[in-house]
Amino acid sequence: MVDALVADVESRLVTPTPPDVPVVLRARPGSPLARAGSNVVPGAMPTEGPLVDTFGRVHDDLRISVTDRCNLRCVYCMPEEGMVFLPRTEILTFEELTRVARIAHDLGVTALRITGGEPLVRKDVVELVRQLAQIGFADLAMTTNGTGFTRLAPDLARAGLRRVNISCDSLQPERFASIRRRGDLSVVLAAMDAAEAAGLTPLKVNVVVMAGVNDDEVLDFCSFARDSGRLVRFIEFMPLDGDGHWDRSQVVSAEDLLAKINARWPLVVFDPEGGDSAPAERYRFADGRGEIGMVASVTRPFCGTCNRLRLTADGAIRNCLFSDDELSAKELMRAGGTDEEIALLLRRAVWGKLPGHGINDPDFLRPVRSMSMIGG
Ligand code: SAM
Ligand code: SF4
Repeated sequence: MVDALVADVESRLVTPTPPDVPVVLRARPGSPLARAGSNVVPGAMPTEGPLVDTFGRVHDDLRISVTDRCNLRCVYCMPEEGMVFLPRTEILTFEELTRVARIAHDLGVTALRITGGEPLVRKDVVELVRQLAQIGFADLAMTTNGTGFTRLAPDLARAGLRRVNISCDSLQPERFASIRRRGDLSVVLAAMDAAEAAGLTPLKVNVVVMAGVNDDEVLDFCSFARDSGRLVRFIEFMPLDGDGHWDRSQVVSAEDLLAKINARWPLVVFDPEGGDSAPAERYRFADGRGEIGMVASVTRPFCGTCNRLRLTADGAIRNCLFSDDELSAKELMRAGGTDEEIALLLRRAVWGKLPGHGINDPDFLRPVRSMSMIGG
């Protein structure tokens, strides 16, 4: 199946032009990017206009991971012990991060999300946010575990952050601590208050649902959403855990969650005005109190409308969470690459994107990097 998709994409990557961008390429053997050759720009690829792939999907959403480090060790993301972090010299500097972001902005990217690892453990993160905000993205958001957030919330808002997603997988203190291994629920709930007080709204709360771990709290989280007005997003557990223990039996499907919620509080599908590039399907409670979202990456993939591009902390451009194809913006920048060459690199990363992540294919291989090393 994957081979057929690769062949399909490859058939679109025709007419190689002479080499003009010396890029370091890391690609899964046999993937379209690998076969295109490290110095070959596919002739059919547009060199102006928005960042578009061979399926016509326009990419206007960039997620940048500013560190692979984290102060927590969530069971679905990192191993408890033995995580090996990138050496500091491999991490993009502020100058490099803002450079790629600025070039992406010039190519039509309108939404930037700062993530990690835990973005708040990056030294001087407020200053980084200030520099990224100056680029002028229509939307500048962050995903954080909330543990170091309360103190920084006003500064982050002043620096230009617009919105925040805070991760919280249980409303029971002991369970919360066992899922996040080092976390404290009260600190994260205080962070939510601080985000709202600083005007970083609408506040989204990310909940990774795992069978037999926290799926019995779904209605509690709905009550929380109804009482607080916060948008709770239930995320299907994806095969990106650092332990490599993911198994389909641990995934609770959005369909099952919706059935459970609907039986208690009927839901109405909701399409926010002006659209929302977020992958979550959004639902309002029919009685008008609150809303929730479902990020059904496993059982209802939204690849057909995917508009996302990622930059890892070590400067790799990735076109999909689940693809190991990477083009190194860091190598290009550190070899003296020009802005035009970096722009071309971004275009190539998008152009080589497969139609879907293939999680549900029998020959699916989980990516080499786990979630914290990519940037969620
Ligand atoms: N450290 C920050 C945090 O926890 O919010 C930002 C980075 S974290 C990798 C981004 C998001 O990915 C979080 O909401 C986290 O819950 C989610 N996540 C991590 N591993 C996941 C997995 N295996 N499946 C689904 N979501 C996952
Ligand atoms: Fe850290 Fe976020 Fe991964 Fe948890 S999900 S280990 S907080 S990066």
